[in-house]
Amino acid sequence: MEIRKGIAVSPGVSIGKSLIVDSEDYRIPRREIESSQRMGEIQRARNAFRDAIEELTALERAQGEAGGGRIKDIFAVHLRFLRDRSLRRKVTDMIHADSVTAEYAVSTVLREIAAHFETNVKDAYISERAADVYDIERRLLRRLLGTKREDILHLSEEVVVVARELSPTQTAGFNRDYVKGIASDAGGRTSHAAIVARSLGIPAVVALEDLTEVVRGGDTVIIDGNRGIVIVNPDVETIHQYEQYYREFVALEHKLDTIREKPAVTRDGVKITLLGNIEFPDEAEILLEKGGEGIGLYRTEFLYLNRSTDPVEQEQYEAYAETVRVFKDRPVVIRTFDLGADKYTQRRRSAPEPNPFLGLRSIRFCLQNLTMFKTQLRAILRASVLGQVKIMFPLITNIQELMQAKMILHDVMEDLDEENIKYNRDIEVGIMIETPSAALTASTLARDADFFSIGTNDLTQYTLAVDRGNELVSTLYSAADPAVLRLIRTVIQDAYKAQIDVSVCGEMASEPEYVMLLLGLGIRTLSLTSPMIPEIKQVIRSVTIEDCNNLTRKVLAMNSERQIAAYLRNAVRKILPEAF
Ligand code: PEP
Ligand code: MG
Repeated sequence: MEIRKGIAVSPGVSIGKSLIVDSEDYRIPRREIESSQRMGEIQRARNAFRDAIEELTALERAQGEAGGGRIKDIFAVHLRFLRDRSLRRKVTDMIHADSVTAEYAVSTVLREIAAHFETNVKDAYISERAADVYDIERRLLRRLLGTKREDILHLSEEVVVVARELSPTQTAGFNRDYVKGIASDAGGRTSHAAIVARSLGIPAVVALEDLTEVVRGGDTVIIDGNRGIVIVNPDVETIHQYEQYYREFVALEHKLDTIREKPAVTRDGVKITLLGNIEFPDEAEILLEKGGEGIGLYRTEFLYLNRSTDPVEQEQYEAYAETVRVFKDRPVVIRTFDLGADKYTQRRRSAPEPNPFLGLRSIRFCLQNLTMFKTQLRAILRASVLGQVKIMFPLITNIQELMQAKMILHDVMEDLDEENIKYNRDIEVGIMIETPSAALTASTLARDADFFSIGTNDLTQYTLAVDRGNELVSTLYSAADPAVLRLIRTVIQDAYKAQIDVSVCGEMASEPEYVMLLLGLGIRTLSLTSPMIPEIKQVIRSVTIEDCNNLTRKVLAMNSERQIAAYLRNAVRKILPEAF
């Protein structure tokens, strides 16, 4: 039995057999094999080379017939690599000497060669060959992992997924009937894969360091998504304890579900609006069941992920319309595509950026891809006649971006006018406050925005310069940091002065310990992940605004994140002891 502590990112408990999943960029964990398995692995490696050569030869021939000179040359270079006997020998020698899997040997050997090319910065031609080597690595790994990667999409029994790192796209593809838990070496509380796990209601723990080196496929694994614990091959007594704990957890969930019909009102009668965050149209019904009063954040970019072709206007329209119909006259805030960083379209995956979270992401990406952006805006506007649709632009960093995005929206409106297509001319247009620059210029931005929604996941990341998905710095990542809290306070004050609505839609809104603080700062609308609505409502119904104001005053006078986090945790523990 091995017990590991990581970061709890999605609540719940599960016990199941593990399925090891390799990450999409094929970073392969080192897995050792028995010496009796070495010949089998060597044969697998040889077959992968043989199949890749056959595949490339066919592609090269097809290009030759079509007269595609440059591409044909690239294939010829790749073929020369694959036919190189010394390369193949390096791979098979490694399997033999180190008793590792074929995929690990292929990945290690090719990445060493690529790194060698990359460091040859003097000769641009040679350093560019690194990309070819990565491409060859991917081609070989596709052969070696192909069937396993398919497995995850066609599961027939319940599993607990164990991976080094999961992308949001991969996680979004999990079938929640079969994937009962998730554990990964990498990741942070607000990484998008974690957010998706939470919306799917799959218990998950991340930042487990080298868990993939400890777990083998088929091992029994307990995932405790409440306490951030993973137990590999538990003994009988531990399994019994967890079965009991699971029953208690389910009982608490049921108890909290009974407050579904009750309003989110503080003890002194202040109504708080609880909206939900969704990624897929089918989550709208679940949100409604949990007591959500509308959608505060529809992460539409998930329509783009997990597929090889872009969604056309009609397909997008149908997805938005389906969601709007569920909520009839209640608000549905559709955020325009937040692509880039860790959420790539198939096309962009092949062109990585050095600092993707500081790169061509989100609204910046849309403003450089106008056809795609306009198609989305048309689809949203067409759906706007069906209910109370609002548009929200993500990652605004300055007023020009907002003006430009609004100008494009007006262009699209004119196109629709010309085509006699109906839409809501007075549709509200808001922005997410996710960057320190937006927070610091909130008073200016408020003049051109109908509402603000504070995206605390990114705001925390950019304020503290801490990658939200990097487990190595996860202890530094906290929305309770005084710097983040001061920016949030500024944004709320500026929104009040400009008399526009302001809400919080980052994960901070889903965490019971932050509720009192956010109410004390003046927030009256929260948008959160559906499974957490009952718990958050319970906290709201247990406090008065005066309690919240007092707590907030004390917190704002504190200087350290640690002190603030401990204070907030203590305060909520008194209100909702069962949840801890
Ligand atoms: C945020 O950054 O807080 C947010 C809600 O957006 P996302 O998590 O999708 O980046
Ligand atoms: Mg964000």
